[in-house]
Amino acid sequence: MLYYNKRRKKSKFIKRRLYPDKASIPWIKRSQKDCERVLRTFLWGGRGRGKVKWAEVCKPFLEGGLGIRDLKTWNKALLLKHLWCVLTEESIWAKWCHAYLLHNSNLWSAPSHGHLSWSWRQVLLLRPLAKEHLIYKCGNGEQFSLWFDPWLHGDSVHALYGHRVILDAGLSKHARVKDVIWEGEWCWPQATCDLVELQQRVRNIPISTVPDSIHWDKVGEAFSTARAFHGIRQRSSSVDWHDIVWHSKRIPKHAFSLWLALRGAHRTKDKLLAFGVVHSAECAFLCGETETLEHLFFQCPFSAMVWREVLYMCNIVRPILPWADEVLWMSTHAKGSAFHHTVRRLAFAATIYHLWIERNRRCFKNLFLP
Ligand SMILES: [Zn+2]
Repeated sequence: MLYYNKRRKKSKFIKRRLYPDKASIPWIKRSQKDCERVLRTFLWGGRGRGKVKWAEVCKPFLEGGLGIRDLKTWNKALLLKHLWCVLTEESIWAKWCHAYLLHNSNLWSAPSHGHLSWSWRQVLLLRPLAKEHLIYKCGNGEQFSLWFDPWLHGDSVHALYGHRVILDAGLSKHARVKDVIWEGEWCWPQATCDLVELQQRVRNIPISTVPDSIHWDKVGEAFSTARAFHGIRQRSSSVDWHDIVWHSKRIPKHAFSLWLALRGAHRTKDKLLAFGVVHSAECAFLCGETETLEHLFFQCPFSAMVWREVLYMCNIVRPILPWADEVLWMSTHAKGSAFHHTVRRLAFAATIYHLWIERNRRCFKNLFLP
């Protein structure tokens, strides 16, 4: 019995040594979440809910976010880099993968199930995504697998016609594209209808004497993790106000406060009343109205007076507009690199910041600036 238990323990130990990643799947996902938690806590400064959804924060500046990279998508982009290395055999690791994991067969035909390590399976599972971005450009046909590489208008012959076509052609499954090229012309065996169709389909694919090449997204471009990240991330439409906030002369805390205001994320009293945090939503500037974002910027008589004065200092005399129109006015009248445009942007952000600080000072410290 003791001998039997020892053997069982030993086999479990060997299994863990062989496939260590199986046990570490939760660890990988957990560490990703932990990293995100550190970032969120740094940004919002606590364990409570953030003022803006994390998915929105992870958008680029142009799309209304803070330009923080989404870790899940970033991880995918890094895994795609591994896939690219294996396809182009750029590193010793890639050569090792070909020898020990693929056993010198093709990456595109390798199964993604069975006894594989977790990380290698993740690389294999990204093949359909990679296929959408890879461009296989035929040259002399010496490197591309005839059946499995997606050189035929973005697909492989095997994916389009199945395994039968390999048997019908009478060529090896390790055949290269050059095996159907004869004296610079396509020359497929004409045994079945599928093969005749193939001969027609490849007619417009040019053949040359240069080696075959693989490109990412565009002919002539190699893989870059940053481009892959932007290629696979979910895109949103750009916001008009991004350059009012994120310009080179910005004051960081003013820019962040303005960003919160533009995202409607400041916790004004109308929101706090809805959550049941406060009993009254009366404006902190004692005008008797309800405190909303639109009221605070700049429908309240106090903030309207401040903003009018600031505009006057910028040599602008005009009536105070509702919040959405103020933002629109700034987007059209303060987006250039001219000095007076920069001053307008800085004045706008500073006014928003100081009004919010003054409102907080009155609410929490009962201190009033003259
Ligand atoms: Zn007010």
